[in-house]
Amino acid sequence: MQDAKDLKEYREHIKSALSNDFQRQALDKFAKAYPVGRANAFKGHDVKALIEEVARVKDASIARLDELYDEFKRKAEALGVKVHLAKTAHEANEIIARIAQENGVKKVLKSKSMTAEETHLNDHLEKYGLEVTETDLGEWIIQLRKEGPTHMVMPAIHLSRHQVADLFSAVTGAAQEVDIDKLVKVARRELRAKYVEADMGISGANFAVAETGSIGIITNEGNARLVTTLPRVHVALVGLEKLTTTLDDALKIIRVLPKNATGQNITSYVTWITGANECASCPDQKKVMHVVFLDNGRSSMAKHESYKEVLRCVRCGACANVCPVYRLVGGHEYGDVYIGAIGLILTYFFHNKEKAKALVQNCVNCQACKEICASGIDLPRIIKEVYNDILNEEGHPAESKVLGLVLKNRALFHGLLRTARLAQKPLKAEQGYLRHLPLIFSKEHNFRALPAIADKPFRDRWNEIKHRVSPANPRYKVALFSGCVQDFVYPEQLEAVVDLLEGKGVQLDFPMAQTCCGLPVRMMGEFNAAKDVAELNVNAFDQSKYDYVLTLCASCGGYLKEMYPRVLTEGGKTPVKAQQFADKVISLSEFMAKVLKLDPAEYQGQGKVTFHSPCHLARGMNVKEEPHEVIRASGHEFVPMEEEHVCCGFGGTYSMKFPQVSKELLDKKIANIEATGAEVIVTECPGCTMQIRGGLHNKGSKVQVMHTSELLAKARKKK
Ligand code: SF4
Ligand code: SF4
Repeated sequence: MQDAKDLKEYREHIKSALSNDFQRQALDKFAKAYPVGRANAFKGHDVKALIEEVARVKDASIARLDELYDEFKRKAEALGVKVHLAKTAHEANEIIARIAQENGVKKVLKSKSMTAEETHLNDHLEKYGLEVTETDLGEWIIQLRKEGPTHMVMPAIHLSRHQVADLFSAVTGAAQEVDIDKLVKVARRELRAKYVEADMGISGANFAVAETGSIGIITNEGNARLVTTLPRVHVALVGLEKLTTTLDDALKIIRVLPKNATGQNITSYVTWITGANECASCPDQKKVMHVVFLDNGRSSMAKHESYKEVLRCVRCGACANVCPVYRLVGGHEYGDVYIGAIGLILTYFFHNKEKAKALVQNCVNCQACKEICASGIDLPRIIKEVYNDILNEEGHPAESKVLGLVLKNRALFHGLLRTARLAQKPLKAEQGYLRHLPLIFSKEHNFRALPAIADKPFRDRWNEIKHRVSPANPRYKVALFSGCVQDFVYPEQLEAVVDLLEGKGVQLDFPMAQTCCGLPVRMMGEFNAAKDVAELNVNAFDQSKYDYVLTLCASCGGYLKEMYPRVLTEGGKTPVKAQQFADKVISLSEFMAKVLKLDPAEYQGQGKVTFHSPCHLARGMNVKEEPHEVIRASGHEFVPMEEEHVCCGFGGTYSMKFPQVSKELLDKKIANIEATGAEVIVTECPGCTMQIRGGLHNKGSKVQVMHTSELLAKARKKK
């Protein structure tokens, strides 16, 4: 990433990345192929159990990094290896430069190592006059171009074969054909000569096994084997978190890593090195071998209650593969050395905090990375925690502080919404949209129409309609959590639930003291305000009275269910109550499919309907199949949409901060909706409704956007 001094400059970098058509096509193609390959590789396996196993063995080793380091050092040094511990990136580079000097090294070969990228090792060694050559094909290409990797596993994915042919022509001084097989042969020929001449090989390592003092390296190109065996000196630069207790633990990680990274059952090469090997060209017939462990903040992360989870990362790169933002923006502009969700976090810890400030905000909070992570890291949550830490260090922006203060005071917040309803009158156009966007929005935000605030919020209609869902002997007692968007912008989505539940033996309550769930302020890094708002809501619901807390907003639902217990435990007073509250939260689809068991005989829906799966419904609440079931059961023809689970680009405040990315995500979503031929697109989140409906409206589309509640209420036979 070129340095961006602030968010404004970072947005400019993003804009330029969005215009890189080749990169976008390459990442898009890979993003579509990756889930298929991964699913095939994991076929027949219990993926969740395998990932939990990785998390368990990683957590166990992270808890005893010091002991494992001592054990590794003892075992490896007994086998002729010299082991070092570098506190900083600079120290690691210096240790390696000194080893080179002491051994009269002039030429160095490297195999792929993200840790060496982290320390900028090549630059450092070149300052000492050493010639350093990367031997992984992708790494060699980007080294020749003087670039960093754009992906942890596929460092040159942003380049076309034409660009590589031009590059190789310049390097070899002979015109090279634009043919991938021939280009690979050129690289092999050029690099083979380097292997013979090199004095030192530098590798990374995927594992450092304490019980045996061995390192393990997994690769696809075989270059690491040559790098670690041919030169007389071998240095492995290893992140401290790569220590595992036993070989068996390392094998548990190998069961997941290649499958998750590239959809391979196993990489082409798995190399284990235990001790300094025989070496005919070395003075005492033994290879000179060093292992340099890099701390660079890892041991303090290991002691941090929340950040220690980050050290589980096995660098599979999957969090980039599924990230809708990375897929559009790519590597160099998206992040720094480490990319994907983990890059948003590690940049703050390992590199430049200045860079991290803008970067960490480039997350739409879609949760896709969390779902795919090889070691079960809650990446989206940690991204927000890093942002909160940055704001605590540098000061919180006035707008987020004000929003925090407003949301903490329900009466003030709702009063402001009512005032805004009056103020918007001159701006109101037909069909409930705003004619002109408010001045705070620039032209960049014009990609979707925005809805006006409703004339009467749901809470003001409740007294007139609640008798319809107040049976004498209810089967279920349910409290409705509305969230502020449905309450004040789309009250009809909530009213539709009253239609749906009438006569079904459900007693529905609407606790008036409830307010915004607090997710927007959490997203903005205002953790204290988010906690106060969560407390207001938990206290607004007397959980002992209800079987379920029903929400029609997936964003609220995911946040209430997953995050409330945590948000309130961060210094809050009511964690037990919060857990009870969270356990009762249920989505409408799940309630209709699993609890009420919707009876198709009561419905007469017609026509083709597709579904956009809100990120927080599919991944926050783990509700994936139920929306399809209820659409089908209501009589409609369900037509699946390509990439149904990919984010629509709303992301609350994200779409305001990064409108260009939000627009691109929406365009893709609309193209996928239109390709289904459906007359109606159903979704289950008011945020997605706002984004998709506004986008379709601007395009003049006839496709209707409905909430699940509206579709079902409309299709229900009238008595
Ligand atoms: S939550 Fe979504 S947008 Fe954010 S880093 Fe993860 S995958 Fe990317
Ligand atoms: S954070 Fe998870 S998904 Fe991302 S590279 Fe690390 S292990 Fe893989």
